[in-house]
Amino acid sequence: MNLIALPAFADNYIWMLHDGAQAVVVDPGDEAPVRAALDAHGLTLAGILVTHHHPDHVAGIDALRPLLHGPVYGPAREKIPGPFTPLQDGAAVEVLGLRFKVLDVPGHTAGHIAYLQQGDATPGLAAPILFCGDTLFSAGCGRLFEGTPAQMFDSLQRLAALPAQTQVCCTHEYTLSNLRFAAAVEPGNADRAAYEQRCRERRVADQPTLPSSIGLERQINPFLRCAAPEVAAAAQSQGAIGNEPVAVFTALREWKNRFR
Ligand code: ZN
Ligand code: FE
Repeated sequence: MNLIALPAFADNYIWMLHDGAQAVVVDPGDEAPVRAALDAHGLTLAGILVTHHHPDHVAGIDALRPLLHGPVYGPAREKIPGPFTPLQDGAAVEVLGLRFKVLDVPGHTAGHIAYLQQGDATPGLAAPILFCGDTLFSAGCGRLFEGTPAQMFDSLQRLAALPAQTQVCCTHEYTLSNLRFAAAVEPGNADRAAYEQRCRERRVADQPTLPSSIGLERQINPFLRCAAPEVAAAAQSQGAIGNEPVAVFTALREWKNRFR
């Protein structure tokens, strides 16, 4: 099994899993990179997984339908180009012989879902895979367009509780700009500084910084570190009242919105 990130638009990735014959893609906002990858590897498109309704995640679906031999799966509580099989928390889907569990992770959008493949004994797949759309980014998190800070906080906590080796396949290359913010929040975090160096090298070589891992994100992502004293203190300097993790998270998210 192969896991690849297809660059799309300015900073999106369309994740593709393929076994050399069949492929599934996640959040195809654009059909062109998907078509090119299918052609390049001689693959049949066996399914599409969608995390949320934003155009940069769904706008390629209709153009891919003529190539598609399988279902489109998407969030039950959102409107995406149909027909699609609606999924919500606790559902399981099987694609390419892999089983994905569905998690509700509202916050960026109201009905956002994530897909978790538990990764046991799949040749070529070293670890569990998480397709988390625009909820958890490396060193950051999605903006709150439809959900509340408390919802997003809970969604991120759920993802943070997954096994450390879980591969985080999010849909934007925002890592370096997120790390600039993370450095402002936690200047003393040596893990973050080392990670930033590795990410810089990857970007210079035109490589994705992703997938990240849940274990790494727990060390470097300020939005998963709201209980850390340095993070709470920084949030308080930006208006957080008290050190309750949700209050810290809320202040961090607002600070990030205005951070340049
Ligand atoms: Zn989005
Ligand atoms: Fe997006």
